[in-house]
Amino acid sequence: MEQTLVILKPSAIERCLTGEIIKRIENKGLVITGMKMMQLGESILREHYAHLVDRPFFPSIVESMTAAPVIVMCLEGVDAVTVVRTMTGVTNGRNAAPGTLRGDFCMSGQANIIHASDSVDNAQIELKRFFKPGEIFSYTPSNIKYLYSADELQA
Ligand code: ADP
Repeated sequence: MEQTLVILKPSAIERCLTGEIIKRIENKGLVITGMKMMQLGESILREHYAHLVDRPFFPSIVESMTAAPVIVMCLEGVDAVTVVRTMTGVTNGRNAAPGTLRGDFCMSGQANIIHASDSVDNAQIELKRFFKPGEIFSYTPSNIKYLYSADELQA
């Protein structure tokens, strides 16, 4: 089953949106196989946002991502990376479509409540960045046959 990393950013924690976001993730049928709270620091953010380190707004990203703890999650499902990116919406909450998490719950391009991996390869790299061995669990939910057809599970 495909895995993806989600981070509930300080903007979600401070605005008390974590329950709302997790509820949508569970209602969708994604399976939570890892979840913990952690305080991020600059060095892990320099790795995680390596593609933005040279941008003038990078210090502001560090400030916003270290302002409060985050919740990191491993989610599993068929095509989980694409499904979660679609649920997340585009980067700027003001442009994100209604029905997406960013579209429904934020007004910012930076304080945009959630990170979601953008590819299967990056998801694996990011999961290793935020979770230690043993912190992601392997289990099959008992309702799996109501989440997918048999052929979808075999694909
Ligand atoms: P996404 O989170 O949608 O995958 P990016 O990887 O481009 O988007 O950016 C990572 C994060 O950096 C964004 O979610 C946002 O918090 C922040 N960010 C991106 N662009 C800007 C910007 N122009 N100004 C401030 N913060 C930004």
